[in-house]
Amino acid sequence: MDKSTTLIVLKKTKLGETDLIINGFCEDGHQLRAVAKGARKPGSKLGVHLELYSRTRVLVNNGSRSLGIITEAQTIQSNEKCRADVLHSAGAAAIVELLDKISAESDGDVRLFALVCEALRCVGDVDDSVVRLITATALLKIASQTGVRPSLKDCVYCGAPMSVGSRSKVAFSLAQGGVVCEQCLPEIVEQGYRSEEPQLIEWAEVAITSRFKDLETCDLARTKDTSCDDLGQALLVWVREWIRFHLVNRLKSLDFLITFR
Ligand SMILES: [Zn+2]
Repeated sequence: MDKSTTLIVLKKTKLGETDLIINGFCEDGHQLRAVAKGARKPGSKLGVHLELYSRTRVLVNNGSRSLGIITEAQTIQSNEKCRADVLHSAGAAAIVELLDKISAESDGDVRLFALVCEALRCVGDVDDSVVRLITATALLKIASQTGVRPSLKDCVYCGAPMSVGSRSKVAFSLAQGGVVCEQCLPEIVEQGYRSEEPQLIEWAEVAITSRFKDLETCDLARTKDTSCDDLGQALLVWVREWIRFHLVNRLKSLDFLITFR
Protein backbone atom coordinates (compact mmCIF):
# COMPACT_ATOMS: atom_id res chain seq x y z
CA MET A 1 0.00 0.00 0.00
CA ASP A 2 1.34 3.42 -0.93
CA LYS A 3 1.33 6.24 1.57
CA SER A 4 1.99 9.85 0.69
CA THR A 5 3.39 12.18 3.34
CA THR A 6 5.56 15.25 3.80
CA LEU A 7 8.61 14.88 5.99
CA ILE A 8 11.71 16.64 7.23
CA VAL A 9 14.82 14.57 6.49
CA LEU A 10 16.51 13.98 9.86
CA LYS A 11 19.09 11.36 9.07
CA LYS A 12 20.57 9.49 6.11
CA THR A 13 22.27 6.13 6.61
CA LYS A 14 24.13 4.28 3.89
CA LEU A 15 22.71 0.88 2.97
CA GLY A 16 24.51 -1.48 0.63
CA GLU A 17 26.27 -0.07 -2.43
CA THR A 18 23.83 2.60 -3.55
CA ASP A 19 20.84 2.72 -1.18
CA LEU A 20 19.99 4.98 1.74
CA ILE A 21 17.88 4.58 4.84
CA ILE A 22 16.01 7.82 5.46
CA ASN A 23 14.77 8.85 8.90
CA GLY A 24 12.15 11.54 8.55
CA PHE A 25 9.82 13.44 10.81
CA CYS A 26 6.38 13.45 9.19
CA GLU A 27 3.76 16.19 9.19
CA ASP A 28 1.48 13.98 11.33
CA GLY A 29 4.07 13.90 14.16
CA HIS A 30 5.34 10.37 13.50
CA GLN A 31 8.83 9.31 12.56
CA LEU A 32 9.25 7.39 9.36
CA ARG A 33 12.15 5.13 8.46
CA ALA A 34 12.31 3.92 4.89
CA VAL A 35 14.71 2.80 2.19
CA ALA A 36 15.49 4.92 -0.84
CA LYS A 37 16.81 2.47 -3.39
CA GLY A 38 19.59 3.70 -5.63
CA ALA A 39 19.57 7.13 -3.97
CA ARG A 40 23.37 7.25 -3.82
CA LYS A 41 23.83 6.53 -7.50
CA PRO A 42 25.22 9.55 -9.35
CA GLY A 43 22.35 11.52 -10.84
CA SER A 44 19.68 9.64 -8.86
CA LYS A 45 16.40 11.53 -9.09
CA LEU A 46 15.43 10.18 -5.68
CA GLY A 47 18.66 11.23 -3.98
CA VAL A 48 18.48 14.91 -4.92
CA HIS A 49 15.06 15.18 -3.28
CA LEU A 50 16.15 13.59 0.00
CA GLU A 51 18.79 16.01 1.22
CA LEU A 52 19.32 16.48 4.94
CA TYR A 53 17.13 19.19 6.54
CA SER A 54 14.91 19.45 3.48
CA ARG A 55 11.12 19.25 3.53
CA THR A 56 10.08 16.68 1.01
CA ARG A 57 6.90 15.04 -0.24
CA VAL A 58 7.41 11.27 -0.47
CA LEU A 59 5.47 8.25 -1.62
CA VAL A 60 6.23 5.21 0.52
CA ASN A 61 5.36 1.62 -0.31
CA ASN A 62 5.09 -0.42 2.86
CA GLY A 63 4.45 -3.77 1.17
CA SER A 64 5.00 -6.67 3.53
CA ARG A 65 8.30 -5.41 4.89
CA SER A 66 8.79 -3.60 8.17
CA LEU A 67 10.86 -0.97 6.42
CA GLY A 68 8.98 0.88 3.70
CA ILE A 69 10.40 1.79 0.31
CA ILE A 70 10.41 5.38 -0.87
CA THR A 71 9.27 5.21 -4.47
CA GLU A 72 8.93 8.94 -5.19
CA ALA A 73 10.27 12.12 -3.62
CA GLN A 74 9.72 15.78 -4.43
CA THR A 75 11.45 18.61 -2.58
CA ILE A 76 9.10 21.27 -1.20
CA GLN A 77 11.69 23.34 0.65
CA SER A 78 15.34 22.48 0.10
CA ASN A 79 16.87 24.52 2.96
CA GLU A 80 20.14 24.25 1.03
CA LYS A 81 21.73 27.03 3.07
CA CYS A 82 21.53 24.70 6.09
CA ARG A 83 24.07 22.51 4.28
CA ALA A 84 26.22 25.30 2.84
CA ASP A 85 28.87 25.61 5.57
CA VAL A 86 29.94 24.12 8.88
CA LEU A 87 28.27 26.73 11.10
CA HIS A 88 24.82 26.65 9.48
CA SER A 89 25.00 22.83 9.24
CA ALA A 90 25.84 22.57 12.93
CA GLY A 91 22.83 24.70 13.86
CA ALA A 92 20.47 22.65 11.70
CA ALA A 93 22.01 19.39 12.97
CA ALA A 94 21.38 20.32 16.61
CA ILE A 95 17.71 21.06 15.85
CA VAL A 96 17.05 17.81 13.98
CA GLU A 97 19.01 15.76 16.53
CA LEU A 98 16.71 16.99 19.30
CA LEU A 99 13.65 16.38 17.13
CA ASP A 100 14.93 12.89 16.28
CA LYS A 101 15.50 11.97 19.91
CA ILE A 102 12.19 13.22 21.28
CA SER A 103 10.15 11.66 18.48
CA ALA A 104 11.99 8.35 18.07
CA GLU A 105 10.09 6.41 20.73
CA SER A 106 6.74 8.12 20.93
CA ASP A 107 4.62 10.20 18.61
CA GLY A 108 5.73 13.77 18.39
CA ASP A 109 3.47 16.75 18.59
CA VAL A 110 1.95 17.63 15.21
CA ARG A 111 2.78 21.30 15.88
CA LEU A 112 6.48 20.41 16.03
CA PHE A 113 6.49 19.92 12.26
CA ALA A 114 5.61 23.52 11.45
CA LEU A 115 7.92 24.78 14.19
CA VAL A 116 10.95 22.86 12.90
CA CYS A 117 10.23 23.74 9.25
CA GLU A 118 10.33 27.43 10.17
CA ALA A 119 13.40 26.95 12.41
CA LEU A 120 15.40 25.28 9.61
CA ARG A 121 14.35 27.92 7.09
CA CYS A 122 15.51 30.58 9.50
CA VAL A 123 18.84 28.93 10.42
CA GLY A 124 19.64 28.73 6.71
CA ASP A 125 18.67 32.32 5.98
CA VAL A 126 20.45 34.19 8.77
CA ASP A 127 23.98 35.64 8.84
CA ASP A 128 26.72 33.76 10.65
CA SER A 129 26.41 35.98 13.72
CA VAL A 130 22.75 35.00 14.26
CA VAL A 131 23.00 31.21 13.77
CA ARG A 132 23.60 30.51 17.46
CA LEU A 133 20.73 32.67 18.62
CA ILE A 134 18.28 31.07 16.19
CA THR A 135 19.47 27.55 17.05
CA ALA A 136 19.12 28.20 20.79
CA THR A 137 15.68 29.68 20.17
CA ALA A 138 14.59 26.65 18.16
CA LEU A 139 15.80 24.21 20.84
CA LEU A 140 14.02 26.16 23.55
CA LYS A 141 10.80 26.35 21.53
CA ILE A 142 10.92 22.61 20.83
CA ALA A 143 11.48 21.86 24.53
CA SER A 144 8.61 24.18 25.48
CA GLN A 145 6.34 22.59 22.88
CA THR A 146 7.20 19.19 24.35
CA GLY A 147 5.99 20.37 27.75
CA VAL A 148 9.20 21.47 29.44
CA ARG A 149 8.88 25.22 29.32
CA PRO A 150 10.92 27.08 31.93
CA SER A 151 9.13 29.64 34.11
CA LEU A 152 11.11 32.83 33.48
CA LYS A 153 8.88 35.68 34.60
CA ASP A 154 7.19 34.37 37.72
CA CYS A 155 8.76 32.55 40.66
CA VAL A 156 8.38 28.85 39.87
CA TYR A 157 7.80 28.10 43.55
CA CYS A 158 5.18 30.66 44.66
CA GLY A 159 4.13 32.25 41.36
CA ALA A 160 5.03 35.81 42.37
CA PRO A 161 5.96 38.00 39.38
CA MET A 162 9.66 38.78 39.26
CA SER A 163 11.04 41.88 37.60
CA VAL A 164 14.06 39.98 36.31
CA GLY A 165 15.65 42.91 34.46
CA SER A 166 16.04 45.04 37.58
CA ARG A 167 18.20 42.48 39.38
CA SER A 168 21.95 41.99 39.37
CA LYS A 169 21.57 38.18 39.41
CA VAL A 170 18.61 35.83 39.18
CA ALA A 171 18.29 32.50 41.01
CA PHE A 172 17.29 29.73 38.62
CA SER A 173 16.45 26.16 39.59
CA LEU A 174 16.82 23.48 36.93
CA ALA A 175 15.00 20.93 39.07
CA GLN A 176 12.03 23.20 39.85
CA GLY A 177 12.05 24.52 36.31
CA GLY A 178 12.34 28.26 36.63
CA VAL A 179 13.35 31.44 38.40
CA VAL A 180 13.02 31.61 42.20
CA CYS A 181 12.29 34.71 44.29
CA GLU A 182 14.24 35.65 47.45
CA GLN A 183 11.43 34.57 49.75
CA CYS A 184 11.38 31.06 48.28
CA LEU A 185 15.15 30.65 47.96
CA PRO A 186 15.53 28.94 51.38
CA GLU A 187 13.00 26.30 50.21
CA ILE A 188 15.13 25.14 47.30
CA VAL A 189 18.60 25.73 48.73
CA GLU A 190 19.18 22.01 49.31
CA GLN A 191 18.43 21.13 45.68
CA GLY A 192 20.81 23.79 44.52
CA TYR A 193 20.26 26.64 42.11
CA ARG A 194 22.24 28.74 39.69
CA SER A 195 22.82 32.47 39.71
CA GLU A 196 22.10 33.62 36.19
CA GLU A 197 22.58 36.88 34.35
CA PRO A 198 19.19 38.66 34.15
CA GLN A 199 19.82 39.41 30.47
CA LEU A 200 20.09 35.70 29.72
CA ILE A 201 16.82 34.92 31.47
CA GLU A 202 15.07 37.80 29.71
CA TRP A 203 16.38 36.58 26.38
CA ALA A 204 15.28 33.00 26.96
CA GLU A 205 11.75 34.37 27.48
CA VAL A 206 12.02 36.49 24.32
CA ALA A 207 13.16 33.40 22.42
CA ILE A 208 10.18 31.35 23.56
CA THR A 209 7.61 34.04 22.87
CA SER A 210 8.91 35.62 19.64
CA ARG A 211 8.47 34.52 16.06
CA PHE A 212 11.57 33.46 14.16
CA LYS A 213 11.11 36.20 11.57
CA ASP A 214 11.23 38.81 14.33
CA LEU A 215 14.51 37.42 15.65
CA GLU A 216 16.47 36.81 12.47
CA THR A 217 17.69 40.36 11.99
CA CYS A 218 18.69 40.39 15.67
CA ASP A 219 17.43 43.97 16.06
CA LEU A 220 16.19 43.13 19.53
CA ALA A 221 19.69 42.09 20.56
CA ARG A 222 21.25 45.27 19.18
CA THR A 223 19.51 47.26 21.88
CA LYS A 224 21.71 45.50 24.43
CA ASP A 225 25.45 45.73 25.02
CA THR A 226 26.16 42.13 24.08
CA SER A 227 26.75 41.09 20.47
CA CYS A 228 24.22 38.78 18.88
CA ASP A 229 26.78 36.00 18.56
CA ASP A 230 27.83 36.20 22.22
CA LEU A 231 24.23 36.27 23.32
CA GLY A 232 23.44 33.25 21.13
CA GLN A 233 26.42 31.37 22.54
CA ALA A 234 25.41 32.08 26.16
CA LEU A 235 21.86 31.02 25.39
CA LEU A 236 23.07 27.80 23.73
CA VAL A 237 25.06 26.82 26.82
CA TRP A 238 22.08 27.58 29.04
CA VAL A 239 19.63 25.69 26.80
CA ARG A 240 21.99 22.69 26.77
CA GLU A 241 21.72 22.45 30.56
CA TRP A 242 17.94 22.76 30.40
CA ILE A 243 17.61 20.03 27.76
CA ARG A 244 20.12 17.79 29.52
CA PHE A 245 18.17 17.96 32.75
CA HIS A 246 14.67 17.57 31.33
CA LEU A 247 14.79 15.90 27.93
CA VAL A 248 17.89 14.38 26.39
CA ASN A 249 21.17 13.53 28.06
CA ARG A 250 23.40 14.52 25.19
CA LEU A 251 23.10 16.21 21.82
CA LYS A 252 26.41 15.70 20.02
CA SER A 253 25.63 18.32 17.39
CA LEU A 254 24.91 20.90 20.07
CA ASP A 255 28.20 20.11 21.83
CA PHE A 256 29.94 20.62 18.50
CA LEU A 257 28.23 23.94 17.79
CA ILE A 258 29.14 25.25 21.24
CA THR A 259 32.83 24.38 20.83
CA PHE A 260 32.99 25.54 17.20
CA ARG A 261 34.11 29.19 17.44
ZN1 LIG B 1 8.67 32.65 45.30
